[in-house]
Amino acid sequence: MYTFNPGPSQVYPQVRRYLQDAFDEGWLSAPHRGERFVQLMRQTIQELKNKLNVPQDYTVFFMSSATECWEVLTQSLTPTKSYHLYSGAFGEKWYEYAKALRPESIGIPFGIDEVPDVYNLPGLDEKTDLVCLTQNETSNATQLRDGVILNLYNRLSTNTLLAVDATSSMAGIQLKYIKADIWYASVQKCFGLPAGLSIMLLSPKAVERLRKVNERSHYNSLTAQYEKMLNFQTTHTPNVLGIYLLSRSLADRAPIKQVHQHLQDRATKLYDYFDQATQLTPLITNPETRSTTVIGLQGPPALIDEVKRRALSQDLQLGSGYGTWKPTSLRIANFPAIPDAAFEQLVQFFAREFA
Ligand SMILES: *Cc1c(COP(=O)(O)O)cnc(C)c1O
Repeated sequence: MYTFNPGPSQVYPQVRRYLQDAFDEGWLSAPHRGERFVQLMRQTIQELKNKLNVPQDYTVFFMSSATECWEVLTQSLTPTKSYHLYSGAFGEKWYEYAKALRPESIGIPFGIDEVPDVYNLPGLDEKTDLVCLTQNETSNATQLRDGVILNLYNRLSTNTLLAVDATSSMAGIQLKYIKADIWYASVQKCFGLPAGLSIMLLSPKAVERLRKVNERSHYNSLTAQYEKMLNFQTTHTPNVLGIYLLSRSLADRAPIKQVHQHLQDRATKLYDYFDQATQLTPLITNPETRSTTVIGLQGPPALIDEVKRRALSQDLQLGSGYGTWKPTSLRIANFPAIPDAAFEQLVQFFAREFA
């Protein structure tokens, strides 16, 4: 059985062995204030920076989910308001969470085949604490190219930080971390691990800001998390198993440049195939906004149902559409933990039954 669901997604087959080792090595009862755990944290963070090309001076935080990152960023780095550019459900949800706490926050939607115009952003002013982007919009299979993030970053005032949701692309594609202040992802997408852990990266400028804001009213306030992290510790008992799995998995991974190339090649082949050969067509028509890691296909609802049902009967689980796109689309995760053999089976399935 292969799952192409874009989260929770297919985990690496080695996870079975890592889990066994975690038990045998005593990690499930390891004290989180002890030297052994501190060593694990130190090692995991170093491996993460090495494998993903994260600048050495960025600070790594572990949280429980991308959703927690949304809330923490509002609590601890947004004294006044944030500014959200989004084309889909995850970006919009982030905006909704922010607005609930900071009502002045602004949301600017854009279309799925549209590249947002970063030179014309109504309402973006000096009092904006955070500009928020979703690099890979998992719900509609779109992606922002590096150039969009770079151009936006270059035109922000020094008061404004750029925050990027990279939940379904971090560890799959090579991101230019230097071109934003905050990046985060949870591990049940491109990391190929079980849910319950997220990773947030902060630039030195973002760290300086959180220290200045000094917000301490919540159990997960970034200020307290930062102070603990200086000694590779956490404010509360962390997901030690999740961190252990991440550490083991990262050690077995190729450098991100290689992973990126592999996914890029696979995505190109899939888009070429679905552009021509089947009854379903790519959901996103603009090649500039198509995601590398999540491929959306569209068709009439009855056909979508039929494709999903028949695929499942052949041990291929496709991802359903999301939100407004649910009845008329399906999603195929192009994540690193899904082997090439799975995609060969998938293409054969379409060629045989829906050409
Ligand atoms: C999955 C996803 C989320 C939510 O992740 P959780 O870990 O469930 O909170 C947020 N943003 C994007 C882009 C996602 O793909």
